[in-house]
Amino acid sequence: MDHPSLMDTVRTSSPTDAASFLRRGQLVAFPTETVYGLGADVFQPEAVESIFEAKGRPADNPLIVHLATLAQVPAVAAEVPTTANRLLEHFSPGPLTLILPKHPDVPSVVTAGLDTVGVRLPRHEAARAFLRACDTPVAAPSANRSGRPSPTTWEAVAEDLDGRIACILQGGRTEAGVESTVLDCTTDPPVVLRPGAVSVEALEGIVGAVRVGDSEGDEAAKSPGTRHRHYAPTARVHLIQEPAEVEQSAAVGYIGLSEPDRKAAFRDCHVVPDVETYARDLFHFFRECDRSGCTMIFAQTVPDDGLGRALNDRLRRAAAR
Ligand code: AMP
Ligand code: MG
Repeated sequence: MDHPSLMDTVRTSSPTDAASFLRRGQLVAFPTETVYGLGADVFQPEAVESIFEAKGRPADNPLIVHLATLAQVPAVAAEVPTTANRLLEHFSPGPLTLILPKHPDVPSVVTAGLDTVGVRLPRHEAARAFLRACDTPVAAPSANRSGRPSPTTWEAVAEDLDGRIACILQGGRTEAGVESTVLDCTTDPPVVLRPGAVSVEALEGIVGAVRVGDSEGDEAAKSPGTRHRHYAPTARVHLIQEPAEVEQSAAVGYIGLSEPDRKAAFRDCHVVPDVETYARDLFHFFRECDRSGCTMIFAQTVPDDGLGRALNDRLRRAAAR
């Protein structure tokens, strides 16, 4: 249920001002290299609880813990397996979340009762300045209302959460556009629970074989977030392989790598030059289509490798009903 707007949401471009809200137990949205996050102090459980309220997030969906430095890892993880250490050396800071055994001091509301914790060090400069100023681990899911496309601009955060959170740290448009890769390092080989901005190929380059989780099976149970419908605009999303399959009518949007025949027939049409741009622009485009009143969006799938794997995953979830 929607609850009424209760507070003024302060906008600031100062990471230290934003951090002062978080330290007082309030919620702060902040930019990262993937999407905007909605942060609370890991060690203030009521603040963490209010993340679920503000987003309308199911209580069984654990939060990722964001850190400024590797020195903070032992405060939230009971143990760091060798493989995880190698991955941290190579990909941190960056868009990789490692699932590690949880430190007993981490409140269970953060991990939705699991005995593991997701840990990531963002590389975005403002995010790092903010996390340093917070001087505590920060639990943060994406800063959207649950189910909606993740926010890639501060305006998109405001669209979903104005009145529900204390502060938005304003930054530019995010660089990757898709979320971090979630990798379970408590098993051997490690398992990709959510494909994301670090490709499976890049992970394999460092640690050899990794397994890619089956989004329907055991791994879905291990990563509760992947069970929920996600990333969806109000418009219905139809996946296509070639734009020839597209039926055109006034309130239809199109996004893809191939140029459709009659571009002008679409209300919103975004032809992207490559998979990186597609990933960066997808959620932004979804929100644009909603604003312009599209009722249907045709989205072209891409080859299922590299970043394409994460992009296809987001497309499939957005199209799921
Ligand atoms: P979000 O931050 O909204 O992009 O969602 C975080 C994702 O990380 C969800 O898919 C969660 O299920 C997953 N995640 C976070 N912590 C854990 C954990 N301890 N074990 C498994 N998956 C996790
Ligand atoms: Mg999310």
